Amino acid sequence: MGRKLLIDKVNIPGIRGFEVYRREGGYQSVEKALKTMTPDQVTDEVKKSGLRGRGGAGFPTGMKWSFLAKPEGVPRYLVCNADESEPGTFKDRYLMEFIPHLLIEGLIVSSYALGSKSTYIYIRGEYAWIPDILEQAIEEARANNFLGKNILGTGYDLEIYVHRGAGAYICGEETALIESLEGKRGNHRIKPPFPAVKGVWDCPTVVNNVETLAAIVPIVNIGGEEYAKIGVGKSTGTKLISACGNINKPGVYEIDMTISVEEFIYSDEYCGGIPNGKRLKACIPGGSSVPILPANLLLKTAKGETRLMNYESLADGGFPKGSAMGSGGFIVLDEDQCVVRNTLTLARFYRHESCGQCSPCREGTGWMEKILKNIEYGKGKSSDIDLLWDIQRKIEGNTICPLGDAAAWPVAAAIRHFRDEFEWHVQNPVESQSRNFGLAHYADPLEVTA
Ligand code: SF4
Repeated sequence: MGRKLLIDKVNIPGIRGFEVYRREGGYQSVEKALKTMTPDQVTDEVKKSGLRGRGGAGFPTGMKWSFLAKPEGVPRYLVCNADESEPGTFKDRYLMEFIPHLLIEGLIVSSYALGSKSTYIYIRGEYAWIPDILEQAIEEARANNFLGKNILGTGYDLEIYVHRGAGAYICGEETALIESLEGKRGNHRIKPPFPAVKGVWDCPTVVNNVETLAAIVPIVNIGGEEYAKIGVGKSTGTKLISACGNINKPGVYEIDMTISVEEFIYSDEYCGGIPNGKRLKACIPGGSSVPILPANLLLKTAKGETRLMNYESLADGGFPKGSAMGSGGFIVLDEDQCVVRNTLTLARFYRHESCGQCSPCREGTGWMEKILKNIEYGKGKSSDIDLLWDIQRKIEGNTICPLGDAAAWPVAAAIRHFRDEFEWHVQNPVESQSRNFGLAHYADPLEVTA
């Protein structure tokens, strides 16, 4: 069984409350950091740990922290990005819902390291029930002198505020998140300046993901070097994966990034295999924006090596022969699933989430959805496949924010790996309309247009 550092205690009755969490060793990292370490020493441990941001980009956290500007007399802010919005990704929700004090503990230590006295949790609007859980945890922490004035008599003051977003995918991008936090429309800011210099209210700001901040707790407890021994290469520590789709045991798993993709899918410790003995067809291994991989490239890299569940191995081969760890949303498709239908589902999501600022994204996402819908429902032409390819090429790299790329990549990868399936739809319009597509099937009044 792999080592667990984040959700090992999640099943202990009452762990959501302060008393049990504390009894089980909670808040030790706060005592250690605030009483025995300087802020720079905490940052050094994070650097030594090799922790990479768990939100999707995988940027080294310690390095990100070291970029934070520290001008005299100017406040600094830490913002926790809890705007988890990628279809198939739900590991931050799990953490906040079932062990909220782990996040609060990580926030206190991280705020201390960065010099933030007002820290924000920006949470997506759709997680409507989670803010109450977090606010209760904050109240409990304050009642026990882990928040507020003069924490544990160390002279350090900190308040944590929960800010609810209105439910926009783009607010997961850190500058759009900051705009939204300031009460404006969640539009992406042009960089530079980066948030480390000009973030919330033009003050130096670090934005980190929920899981990233929770991982600061074990890093301080066991030390950065010890943390770095877990995992492999630049994929240090443990990683939460939210697994769904055609697997026997959907859920959130903590892995130590040395296991293979095959073990993750088929072992009883994790996904437990594919229901009804069906064969594996494909997988989106890191949330909806990363390229889908067919089974042959998923289990082995293009070089014939075993594909592992870590940043380097999942990306091995680049596009189109590799994919990415992304946000840790692992979506499995069995042999009965339709890739065209699945891609249409994602295209609809990105069209809906496009903020409309730039033409390639605003127009392109709409056209991709429309063409995919035509192909899916037996109204497509063979030239539509090339047209679809052309549109995604014109979106990628030509938009203001990363949503454009996120919309283009799933379409590109689906055509690259499953072009024959697109062609089958075009050549078999009648069967196309009547086929039952299982996983991606949903009722939508806007779906079939005459
Ligand atoms: Fe808005 Fe452009 Fe970003 Fe799309 S790529 S969400 S239109 S800013």
